[in-house]
Amino acid sequence: MAYNQILPDDTGREHIIEIKDLCKSFDGTQVLKNITFYIRNNEFITLLGPSGCGKSTTLRIIAGFETADSGIVNFEGEDLLKVPAHKRNINTVFQRYALFPHLDVFDNVAFGLKIKKVPKKEIEQRVNTALAKVGLADYGERYIDQLSGGQMQRVAIARAIVNRPRILLLDEPLGALDLKMRKEMQIELKQMQRDLGITFVYVTHDQEEALTMSDTIIVMKDGIIQQIGTPIDVYNEPKNAYVADFIGESNIVPGTMKQDFEVTFSDGITFNCVDPLFPEFTKGEDNEVDMVIRPEDFYVSEEAEGRINGTVESIVFKGVHYEILVKSDNGIVWMVHNVDPVKVGQRVGLYVDPDDIQIMRKSEMSPEPGSYGIKKIAGQDEEEAEASSETPETDGGADV
Ligand code: ADP
Ligand code: MG
Repeated sequence: MAYNQILPDDTGREHIIEIKDLCKSFDGTQVLKNITFYIRNNEFITLLGPSGCGKSTTLRIIAGFETADSGIVNFEGEDLLKVPAHKRNINTVFQRYALFPHLDVFDNVAFGLKIKKVPKKEIEQRVNTALAKVGLADYGERYIDQLSGGQMQRVAIARAIVNRPRILLLDEPLGALDLKMRKEMQIELKQMQRDLGITFVYVTHDQEEALTMSDTIIVMKDGIIQQIGTPIDVYNEPKNAYVADFIGESNIVPGTMKQDFEVTFSDGITFNCVDPLFPEFTKGEDNEVDMVIRPEDFYVSEEAEGRINGTVESIVFKGVHYEILVKSDNGIVWMVHNVDPVKVGQRVGLYVDPDDIQIMRKSEMSPEPGSYGIKKIAGQDEEEAEASSETPETDGGADV
């Protein structure tokens, strides 16, 4: 069975997992609503969305720790939901590593193999290979409490890959690490996935993490997939206002399209764009759309040289660029990133290339008329802060 309608698959690569119409409710509340996607062999695929959107539940159904109410999960063409968790060629790494503090690194990694009564010699060889792959070749005799957070994370990964799974599931595995270590581990994990040549299914609520590591990102909200695509796709061509807002900073503004390749912003200024009318639109009418413009896609110029004129409301230095708010004369506040500073109160012009204007269909996540990108971003920050301050979930014991 193939679900090529989800994503045009021109890569010709095998789908190791195909998920169709997966549904799940807890206590009468539906948390997965017809989840449908496929995972290609050797892909680094990420489920991305805010806390509570159903990422872990999806992963736990694939792992076999949770049952589905309905739907199909095929693993290499076979019905995976009939296979008990311990017989699935799939291992999971959680945010809480659940390592055994009374065992050294070697024995932590060897634990599952010992239970399976794998011969001693083979255990030694497999554990050493796994430790070498995660960069802990010389750490076998160390105790867990002598390790840094990043090293513990590597032990947890070694313990999973020692089983030689076809698929590794990772549920917010870097959530317990500090920012610097997290950034390092992101690069290492991506490298590890390439070296191991296996499929990684990764869960995170951190959009930057998803953009850094993934071949494919699945953006979820309230148990529904909003968009599936490469990091570049979801960043540059978000399908709706929700995705645009969740993936990176953006100005989301309502507009109208009367004809192909032309959009009128809510402040009355008409811009060229690269999108034709959507098929359901009527030419000559004010068809309502949402538009997204990324802050880095604006050019700041002298007043009157730009298409939009306005006044600088604020400027904050962000390291590489300045984050500038410009209030246009027609009342829209635009967030602009610029490498050169401007002064608060200064009159400026803004320009944007037609192909940097992304046109989206209206959705229930559209901004309210008059509430522009800026205000929505402020709201999202609160949600993110909430999500990251959450206590890590427990998933009970080691997955051996
Ligand atoms: P995410 O991983 O995206 O944060 P989850 O998949 O963990 O989200 O949870 C999705 C929703 O299902 C949440 O509202 C959560 O409270 C609920 N949920 C998850 N697991 C259970 C459970 N075992 N019993 C009841 N509700 C659950
Ligand atoms: Mg979760």
